[in-house]
Amino acid sequence: MSKNATYVFLDRDGVINKRLKGYVSSLDEFQFLPKAQKAIKLFHQNRFRVIVVSNQAGVGRGLVKKEELKRVTDSMVREVRASGGDILAVYYCPCRKEDHCSCRKPNPGLLLSAAREFDIDLESSWMIGDELKDMQAGKAVGAKTILVDTPINRVPKKHRQKVDYGAKDLLAAYAIIKKNVQ
Ligand SMILES: [Mg+2]
Ligand SMILES: [Zn+2]
Repeated sequence: MSKNATYVFLDRDGVINKRLKGYVSSLDEFQFLPKAQKAIKLFHQNRFRVIVVSNQAGVGRGLVKKEELKRVTDSMVREVRASGGDILAVYYCPCRKEDHCSCRKPNPGLLLSAAREFDIDLESSWMIGDELKDMQAGKAVGAKTILVDTPINRVPKKHRQKVDYGAKDLLAAYAIIKKNVQ
């Protein structure tokens, strides 16, 4: 069944919620971007399955408490569901860059974990993020990629082929996917 579903992986900060200079370390610092909940609702209504994959090195750095991250996650999922959308699962990498783990994007570990858990065909999946490392993680597993918020021309030329589409926000990204997936 799941092989027929299209999965959409979303980065969190800068895609679903407002990106801060530092880490989102408490619930009151988590602020949905204006059209994000509407976009996730449309994904859900159109049978796309949404999974969040997010680097949260603040945890490994001791700047974000695990319990607080859980509070933020529970609240995010609850609010998304209350607005008619759904988030199937949330995967975080809590590691610091210098830990050289396999889950921190640009590595695809979070997507691979999700693929194992939900039997996902990654090549028919999409990765939406606001940074190059999201695009790299998506391309590493053969997914199609959409860069939101950051203009494509800010991506170094040698990495442009990792970006399939640019969109101003998650709602615009939804429109691209809807058009491309029958
Ligand atoms: Mg981001
Ligand atoms: Zn990690």
